[in-house]
Amino acid sequence: MARYTEAICRLCRREGEKLFLKGNRCITEKCAVVKRSYPPGQHGQSKQKLSNYGVQLREKQKVKRIYGVLERQFRKYFKIASRTKGVTGKVLLQLLERRLDNVVFRMGLATSRTAARQIVRHNQISVNSVRTNIPSFLVTKDDLVAVKTKDKALAKIKDNLEMTKDRTVPSWLEFNKNDLSAKVLRLPEKEDIQQPIEEQLIVELYSK
Ligand code: SF4
Repeated sequence: MARYTEAICRLCRREGEKLFLKGNRCITEKCAVVKRSYPPGQHGQSKQKLSNYGVQLREKQKVKRIYGVLERQFRKYFKIASRTKGVTGKVLLQLLERRLDNVVFRMGLATSRTAARQIVRHNQISVNSVRTNIPSFLVTKDDLVAVKTKDKALAKIKDNLEMTKDRTVPSWLEFNKNDLSAKVLRLPEKEDIQQPIEEQLIVELYSK
C-alpha cells in the first residue's frame, strides 16, 4: 500500500498544529511546530487567507494525516458514513477511531499510530482470540483486542506502555493492564477524540 514518506513533521507544520505523528517526540521542545510555527516551503511565512474551500480541504487533510489514511480509503470511509443511518460526520469519525491500529494506539501499546500499525502488521495483535494483521480492521462493540506475542516484541510493547503511561485510555475501551487487552464497551463518540476536529467541514467538502 502506498504511504507518505516525506518528513513527517512537515505535515503538522502544513496544518499549523500538532498532529502527534511521532510519538513521544511530539511532547518535547524538539517538535517542529514549536520550533517553526509556520507552514513549510518557500512561501510558508507569507500570510494567506484561506477560502471556505481551503478551510474545508485543510480539515480533511488534517484528519487523514492524524489517522494515517490515504485519500482513496478516506473517501471510502466517507461513502460508508454517508450511507449509514446517523450523522455522517460522526459516523466518519467513528469509522476512523474503530480502526485496529488506532485501538492499539489508544491502548497505549504504541507511541504513535504509525508504530501501532507496525505492531498490527507484525501479527502481534488478536481480536477475539484470532490473530489479526490488518490495520484497517474495524472493531465493534464487545470485541476483545489483545496482545499476542512473546519475548522481545512483548518487552517492546511493555516499554511503549511505560512511555505512554500519562495518556488516558478512552472510556469506550476497557483496558486491562495485566494481560494487555481491551474490551470495546461501546462505539466511540466525538468526545472520546482528544484532538479538535471539525468533521462538518469535511462533510461539506465532499458534499459539493
Ligand atoms: Fe508533529 Fe510530532 Fe513532528 Fe511535532 S514532533 S511536528 S507534533 S510529528
